Amino acid sequence: MNRREFLEAAAVAAVAPMLARQDSAPEWGSPVFDVHFHLRPQLAGNMAHQDGAGVTKANLLTRGRALDQVKAVQAAAPGRFIWFNSYDVAQPDAEQALTQAVKDGAQGFGEMKFHVAADGPELRRMYALAADLRVPILMHFQEVDHFPNEGTWSTGFAKSFETVLKGYPRTTFIGHADAFWANVSENYRNEVAYPSGPIKRGGVTDRLLGDYANLCGDLSANSGNNAMSRDPEFTADFLKRHQDKLLFGSDCGCTDGRGTGASQANNPGAARIAGKCVARETLSLLKRSTTPEIFQKIVWGNAHGLLRIP
Ligand SMILES: [Zn+2]
Ligand SMILES: [Zn+2]
Repeated sequence: MNRREFLEAAAVAAVAPMLARQDSAPEWGSPVFDVHFHLRPQLAGNMAHQDGAGVTKANLLTRGRALDQVKAVQAAAPGRFIWFNSYDVAQPDAEQALTQAVKDGAQGFGEMKFHVAADGPELRRMYALAADLRVPILMHFQEVDHFPNEGTWSTGFAKSFETVLKGYPRTTFIGHADAFWANVSENYRNEVAYPSGPIKRGGVTDRLLGDYANLCGDLSANSGNNAMSRDPEFTADFLKRHQDKLLFGSDCGCTDGRGTGASQANNPGAARIAGKCVARETLSLLKRSTTPEIFQKIVWGNAHGLLRIP
């Protein structure tokens, strides 16, 4: 779809009853903010997932020039979408492009998913810029391929990210993906993308969330769902301890908010969630794992505080 077609689709979609969900009682007992929702190429697809999954408001993760598409989505469903922007961190104009995105209304950087080291020079300049612009930065940490030769992303989380947290105290980091969530368990050594079984206390992620005010956790994708599904006793305690620093997100690729299509594409290791909507699975999991008060913070309140949304 080119820009003109997209805007025409936007005009058509704008007359559809997109606000119905907001008028009805929230399905989850609380309004829900999805902090990890990738902008979809078809305008109506963005609303279809939100409405189907019972999500009130979402953060559109975009890459490169996306302002026209963001504006079209926001016009079609007023008040229901904010956005983050990312840009190839290896490019010399990355800082300029992301600064412009924030001027245009982006409320954070992300998702930052590039084949570089988490403590390398490319990302370090983004951490500094995020602090200067006072926006959070959402990071994808992954050390194990989902398919042959995929490569790794923001590598070195377990070994080196503490030095980053220390070195950039004014930067707010939102951690996400396989390496972030597998490291809630102390005995993880990058064996698989999604480890199973009981969690051994003292994992790097758990410790960093406790020790560093500038780190939050995004519970999206199979990685977040898997980590919180392993050990109910651990999960209840983890959600309680980090209740002010965890954010619900879906990272779901299903089309209708009910599991149709590929919820985690190109990721055979995530078969446990195939045919299901990650948003629904994780909302159900959180709801049964914690109190209504903590649930409401994680799925709604925390994101508003972090992103300074009134
Ligand atoms: Zn990711
Ligand atoms: Zn879904």
